Amino acid sequence: MGGTFNPIHYGHLVTAQEALYQFGLDRVIFMPAGQPPHKQDKEILPPEERYLMTVIATASNPNFVVSRFEVDRKAPSYTVDTIKALKKEHGPETNLYFITGADAVWEILTWKDAEELSKLCTFIAATRPGYSLEKFKKLHVLPDDQPLPRGKPRVYVMEIPALAISSTDIRRRVREGHPISYLVPEGVANYIHKCRFWIDY
Ligand code: ATP
Ligand code: MG
Repeated sequence: MGGTFNPIHYGHLVTAQEALYQFGLDRVIFMPAGQPPHKQDKEILPPEERYLMTVIATASNPNFVVSRFEVDRKAPSYTVDTIKALKKEHGPETNLYFITGADAVWEILTWKDAEELSKLCTFIAATRPGYSLEKFKKLHVLPDDQPLPRGKPRVYVMEIPALAISSTDIRRRVREGHPISYLVPEGVANYIHKCRFWIDY
């Protein structure tokens, strides 16, 4: 599961847990994104801080792990490179699923790497109840036993409980002095307050 995780919140955690359950996965690997190219964006915390908060948020779940792969890379990573590296690390027998929000999956599928990605992993697109699935009907949401059109990735749509939480909203709440408890894990909230992220960072 890739993301900026600036910061990680319960929307991400519920999505990961639901994917684990609905698809019978062994493990969810959280992959915080590295430093984005537009470095002047002070809103986005350094990769190390986003990585740390992701570790804090997932520490109690034995099925959740956090990867340093993108965080440790100097250049921004392309999803296809990350997936290739994971495939190499875990072996060809391992089935990889790319978990993401439905909004993001739509973008990825229109990337130039979509065909290559389709050979490497399956997509799980998380939607919230009420989110229009119309767009996906045109895609390749096919049962397991049906062959896919050549070069088209398999995309499963997973509906998750409605959680109108976003990192953007959490950062705004922090700046405006509103509480963020029950939107992010307690340890993450404590760390944000301790470091004064988005206030004088
Ligand atoms: P920002 O507001 O800064 O864009 P975000 O909350 O969207 O942050 P990201 O780190 O960008 O968080 O998200 C990582 C992935 O998690 C994306 O694919 C996104 O669509 C998905 N996601 C984010 N929030 C939720 C949520 N509340 N429920 C389900 N999926 C979510
Ligand atoms: Mg987002």
